[in-house]
Amino acid sequence: MKITAVRTHLLEHRLGTPFESASMRFDRRAHVLVEIECDDGTTGWGECLGPARPNAAVVAAYSNWLIGQDPRQTEKIWAVLYNALRDQGQRGLTITALSGVDIALWDIKGKHYGASISMLLGGRWRESVCAYATGSFKRDGVDRVSDNASEMAERRSRGFHACKIKIGFGVDEDLEVIRAVREAIGAHMRLMIDANHGYTVTEAVRLGKAAAEYGIDWFEEPVVPEQLSAYRDVRTSQPIPIAGGETWHTRFGMWSALESRAVDILQPDLCGCGGFSEAQKIASLATLYGIRIVPHVWGTGVQIAAALQFMAAMVPDPVRVNPVEPIMEFDRTENPFRQAVLKTPLEAVNGVVAIPDGPGLGIEVNRSALVEFKMPGT
Ligand SMILES: [Mg+2]
Repeated sequence: MKITAVRTHLLEHRLGTPFESASMRFDRRAHVLVEIECDDGTTGWGECLGPARPNAAVVAAYSNWLIGQDPRQTEKIWAVLYNALRDQGQRGLTITALSGVDIALWDIKGKHYGASISMLLGGRWRESVCAYATGSFKRDGVDRVSDNASEMAERRSRGFHACKIKIGFGVDEDLEVIRAVREAIGAHMRLMIDANHGYTVTEAVRLGKAAAEYGIDWFEEPVVPEQLSAYRDVRTSQPIPIAGGETWHTRFGMWSALESRAVDILQPDLCGCGGFSEAQKIASLATLYGIRIVPHVWGTGVQIAAALQFMAAMVPDPVRVNPVEPIMEFDRTENPFRQAVLKTPLEAVNGVVAIPDGPGLGIEVNRSALVEFKMPGT
């Protein structure tokens, strides 16, 4: 079995209403899928986290080493590609692009052996996961407090039992938002907050101390990801558990964060941390530190499928009598191609997502959506 072609599909949608996190403004959604084809006609799909065009350029560079290789040798290929760009690329786009390739190879491997990726990873501990709704970005010309509260009340009425809101726009206004959302969703819905590294340590500590009374599951990316000691200062100076990891790459990046005691919850992204091959190692590493894993998800149905396969195979914590079940991030912002790229959408029903058990990722890509949402000029 040999790889004969490596292709990228760049997708784009211009948003009706632009929105912002504390670190980024979105006026469009753009994502890149990776398609790898083999000499027996088998095709595998992957996705890269982050900017679509630069990711596609790195995938194109990797294709030189991929053509002619046996796609089932995922560990070997990962090492060859990592080594190919290692001197200038131990993190960032080289790894997000490698993640998309690795996921596509695991999809091929699953199809070849007639097994889901979760089975190849060691077995399925669960057939479904609870989902949490991510939303409440800052929208142009709208009052954040009432907008976020009504959005999350709506998520609750749609059956979600957990949600995450965006903060990092100023401590006092953020606290008003958190209070209003908690009031709108009631006492029992799980609530998380995500600052997208918009705070200084002082601001994050003040926010964490004041927000704790609203029952917050975790406080995500309080400060910039490079400053691990700042993460640790926030973690030890306020009571809410700290989460982070969507911008850290490979076992080496995660290890630094774990060794620094930066987080209580680690959030590797399958499409960013190095794919299934690397996520497995990261999960093992996290057990050494007693740290929970909650994968980060921000992409299309291909990424959702990858996260679901990984979560199916996540081993319950053997130390705990009642281990905390993994929870699946469900982006609820505008993105018409998120589910359109799949022939069978992977939606949450009453806050729960079923995990596909077909070969590979367990999905079929809808090629007409790739044409409909094709990025202009690509
Ligand atoms: Mg986040």
